[in-house]
Amino acid sequence: MSLIVQKFGGTSVADVEKIQAAARKAIRAQRQGHEVVMVVSAMGKNTDALLGLAGEICDHPPAREMDMLLSTGEQVSVALVAMAIHALGAKAVSLTGGQIGMKTDNSFSKARIQSISTERIQGLLSDGNIVVAAGFQGIDDDLNITTLGRGGSDTTAVALAAVLGADACEIYTDVDGVYTTDPRLLPEARRVDVISYDEMLELASLGAGVMHSRSIEFAKKFGVPIHVRSSFSDTEGTMIVAEAESQTQPVSGAAMTPDEARVTVIGVPDVPGKSQQIFSAIAACKIAVDMVVQNVGKSGRANVSFTVPSGELEATLAAVQAVMEAVGADSITHDDQVSKVSVVGSNMATQTSVASRMFRALANAGVNIHMITTSEIKISTLVPKSQAAIALRAVHEAFDLHQRPQDAQSWSEIKKDRGDKADVDTLVSRLRDDALEALTLTGISITDKQARVTLHGVPDEPGIAADMFETIGAAGIFIDMIVQGYDGDGGSTSVSFTVDDTALQASLEVAQTILEKHNMRDVQGGKEIAKVTVSGIGLRSHTHVATMLFQQLAEDAINVEMINTSELQVNAVIDAKRADDAAEDLKRAFADSLL
Ligand code: ADP
Ligand code: ASP
Ligand code: MG
Repeated sequence: MSLIVQKFGGTSVADVEKIQAAARKAIRAQRQGHEVVMVVSAMGKNTDALLGLAGEICDHPPAREMDMLLSTGEQVSVALVAMAIHALGAKAVSLTGGQIGMKTDNSFSKARIQSISTERIQGLLSDGNIVVAAGFQGIDDDLNITTLGRGGSDTTAVALAAVLGADACEIYTDVDGVYTTDPRLLPEARRVDVISYDEMLELASLGAGVMHSRSIEFAKKFGVPIHVRSSFSDTEGTMIVAEAESQTQPVSGAAMTPDEARVTVIGVPDVPGKSQQIFSAIAACKIAVDMVVQNVGKSGRANVSFTVPSGELEATLAAVQAVMEAVGADSITHDDQVSKVSVVGSNMATQTSVASRMFRALANAGVNIHMITTSEIKISTLVPKSQAAIALRAVHEAFDLHQRPQDAQSWSEIKKDRGDKADVDTLVSRLRDDALEALTLTGISITDKQARVTLHGVPDEPGIAADMFETIGAAGIFIDMIVQGYDGDGGSTSVSFTVDDTALQASLEVAQTILEKHNMRDVQGGKEIAKVTVSGIGLRSHTHVATMLFQQLAEDAINVEMINTSELQVNAVIDAKRADDAAEDLKRAFADSLL
């Protein structure tokens, strides 16, 4: 018999009528011959209301008590949904996270799933019940109630679908699928038929709140197809699967994170190990750092800039302050009036001018780009918060995201193409089932024969990045990584990019003309560098990955010249002569996580 997991989000169980409608959907699926497991969120905005109550009682509620409190929201809704099913004449049993054996670690409010016991659920299903499981919650080894983080019911649902070997995982929500960007922000956004795990992972971690990003990590690891669809209609939604919708379209979605903060540590001694001290202090607080940019400034001192969610700014500053003396840095600056606007697309890596097209769109909209980082399938820019909405619209339009790509494939076409090929990745058989959410690395590799070009004293004004990268593109130079961050002196920025080493001379010549045109300070080129790439699943949500990488390179006395992080890869640019040592030592350091 086939098994379906159906997840209903907060708005989909917001009142009695909606609870009854959700119950009817589950009963219908059961009557069609499926076994049904429902995963339910707290009603409406109940989680927010509980958070508000806690905030009225104390500023910093103990994390354990917070999870105890927040988990009650889901407990209310599972009971009501089970009652609704009974009232409609079918059998249902509601279960809390503890009762479904959802074992997690003990990091309250960000707990990770370790294992799920399926026996009880399977027994109840065999007896003809619809199982109604509470989303978002689990228990740790000491039977404390934990929660997975805001939006975590998606992760409960996909994890259950994975361990139960479900045939389908349906995410019922208040939109009828995944859009090219949040349709609430941009009404012209287009619903896509299909989106790949990799694209959805990046979009979710860059602000597309429609799916909890960790749920996509599960889906990708275990090959679970996800169907995101509306609770209020029966129309087909969006399939999240291994394949992308188009083979040619450079960008398939855009996302915005409104509340970001930029932190710059000024005057960090430019010796191996210093960044590592800063980032391990932050990682110890389980704060995910993004857009890391390190610029070597004057007299052998570097400025390290990065972004964190603005809600984590206070904790981040405290963590950095605590190590300032040990690091030997001069000072810290920060800006919490910034937003991150990103584009994502799995065909980006093989196409030229994608970055300059984005920068031009922002320049034409008068948006100033403070920071830039790129990785194989995403480009992120940090922009003034007041311009974030304009910026999102500009990039959405620049990549024609409102239009269906000409070569777009529907889910049924993709399924036909798959033929007899197994859906489930071979990854699964090699994963440990007691550490479901553990970091999973698929490879550590080196790309050598790279070169780096850095421009210092780049004016922090609209249009500069667009002009730079258009000029470079016009010269036929193919760029891999781009980072832009603060110089730390007088509001100017530095821009570094990597090219194939055969293109270094040509790149330096172009850079020189750009420098003269915009009155920049200087240009430097570095040859004989290599890129070390760590690939896998969970690279960003496991905050220790970048730290361990920095630590290992520091132990080997290898300086990191540039770094970028995404959901799929962490790349570090280092001295080519040390690349083999680095790769070997990293393989040793990450042996536990490497498949
Ligand atoms: P639920 O309570 O069902 O989990 P969420 O509020 O978490 O629902 O997620 C659905 C919301 O996600 C939508 O209402 C929409 O505003 C927002 N969203 C953000 N980005 C996207 C996107 N790319 N596609 C669809 N919805 C998006
Ligand atoms: N109720 C939780 C939240 O609001 C979990 C969820 O809805 O996914 O974040
Ligand atoms: Mg949600």
